[in-house]
Amino acid sequence: MRIALFGPPGAGKGTQAALLVKRLGLAHISTGNIIRAAIKQDSPAGAEARAYVREGRLVPGKLVRKMAEDAIADHGYDNFVIDGYPRTTEQANWLEGFLESHGRPLEHVLSLYLPDAIIIERLSRRRIHRETGENFHLDFKPPPADVPADMILQRSDDRPEAIQRRLDVYREQTHPLEDHFRRHGLLVRIDAVGSVEEVHERIKSVITGNLVNER
Ligand code: AMP
Repeated sequence: MRIALFGPPGAGKGTQAALLVKRLGLAHISTGNIIRAAIKQDSPAGAEARAYVREGRLVPGKLVRKMAEDAIADHGYDNFVIDGYPRTTEQANWLEGFLESHGRPLEHVLSLYLPDAIIIERLSRRRIHRETGENFHLDFKPPPADVPADMILQRSDDRPEAIQRRLDVYREQTHPLEDHFRRHGLLVRIDAVGSVEEVHERIKSVITGNLVNER
């Protein structure tokens, strides 16, 4: 199973990917997580990416392409959910070409959609675990009481100016990908308003339908 999760920041891509990992045993490939890890390690790629991420802009495509392709290869080109990549038409062409060249074309692109007001509320209330990267929401999924307060951070790009920039970038560069994937017969839109479990059920019904068809 080869799935790309697509949608604006705050749509719940990371949360849903984590559930797919837990329940269906897929590997999670998140270019955002890979980039944040590179920044933390201060690797050359991380140093190059740092300012872009902080400001909510897209990191240069070639840098992300290598990270995504290396991660897909590490997972044997199959049984993964990729989130945060592709974000531009150029990246979509790279990803599709890369997977096709390994005989493992993309099977689903699930586009999570929700109103801007909910996106802004979710992102401004989001916190992450400094070490594990796990996501929390101060109201709906607060960090457990035994996690020390200094382990819980707000992402630098979850601050209001960066949120606005990321939404603009999404609208201008990433949203047009919906049409691209629709033309390729891969796109399924998923209503991302609701509880984590409700959204997971919507995703699962799409994926399970495919599994039944494959047998
Ligand atoms: P995310 O965790 O997916 O929201 O990604 C966080 C940040 O990492 C983005 O705002 C970008 O700066 C960078 N990033 C992640 N994935 C990509 C990508 N596919 N292309 C360019 N930049 C990316």
